[in-house]
Amino acid sequence: AKRSGKSQFKYYRDIKQLSYFQNYVTLERELKQALKNKEFVLYYQPIFSDGGKVISGVEALVRWIHPEKGLIPPFEFITAAEEMGIMPDIGDWVLNEGLRQLHQWHTLGYDKLTLSINASKTQMMDDRFFKEVSEKLREYDIRPDRLGIEITESDVCDYLDKITEFTTKLKQLGVKISLDDFGVGLSSLNYLKEIKVTQLKVDRSFMRRIPEDQYDCALLSGICTLCEKLNIEVVTEGVETKQQFEYIANQNHKMQGYYFSHPVLPDQLEEQLRRLN
Ligand code: C2E
Ligand code: CA
Ligand code: CA
Ligand code: CA
Repeated sequence: AKRSGKSQFKYYRDIKQLSYFQNYVTLERELKQALKNKEFVLYYQPIFSDGGKVISGVEALVRWIHPEKGLIPPFEFITAAEEMGIMPDIGDWVLNEGLRQLHQWHTLGYDKLTLSINASKTQMMDDRFFKEVSEKLREYDIRPDRLGIEITESDVCDYLDKITEFTTKLKQLGVKISLDDFGVGLSSLNYLKEIKVTQLKVDRSFMRRIPEDQYDCALLSGICTLCEKLNIEVVTEGVETKQQFEYIANQNHKMQGYYFSHPVLPDQLEEQLRRLN
């Protein structure tokens, strides 16, 4: 079995075949324990501004360090955790741990650094999450505009009303809203109309054939022009090669990708901060 995305998880479950787990029952039991046993860890992937010279923020990406199986990537358990109803709890943990770490970095002097966290569908359905966000910002004494919540198109699609309500409240608080994986779904443009996002993350599939493919280059540049007019910040995801970097470096949007850094542990991120910021 391979890890090829969220949509296949249900399929795995149906045939009782998971890539890391014998079956769904084991996975459920172990996932529930994982939270109690503190087996989740956050990695941070830097997001660059100023043509790649400065780290303006980090995206928190969760991993599960399983006692026997080792590091398990999010695709292996997030959909299952959603279905089991424990994603809101994992999400609360991510929020708390991310903000705790951000507070520490602010204290070290990197006080403009922003944190992006990924919100799951079930988390956004739950009014508790908004309360958690405002409480935690206060607890760690963090300016709301230093936090960004990333939402994905596919989630928006299912519950537009509820998610609009959620994002509106967050924006009133001053938190930034980012539309993740932009361009993969079918009606992205419609969402820009409904949810007035502050940032758009262009999916890495757009980056793949840049700069060779003129068609993709035109699409990217069109998206950027659109965002400029709407006053939406652009982040290009999946920058992997020097050629890609050089192509987009002089356009003034933010960049994220393996070319700069994989997601890393806090120590390694601090090393990068010391070097750059
Ligand atoms: P995402 O939000 O689109 O996160 C970016 C993913 O792309 C990360 O995978 C990252 O490691 C990977 N990536 C970054 N740069 C590059 C690149 O240059 N090339 C390629 N090929 N990949 C790159 P990761 O960490 O495995 O996360 C996968 C997905 O899991 C995330 O996609 C996000 O949707 C979800 N996820 C991760 N952490 C959380 C979380 O705390 N809560 C929720 N709800 N979802 C999460
Ligand atoms: Ca994301
Ligand atoms: Ca609380
Ligand atoms: Ca993304």
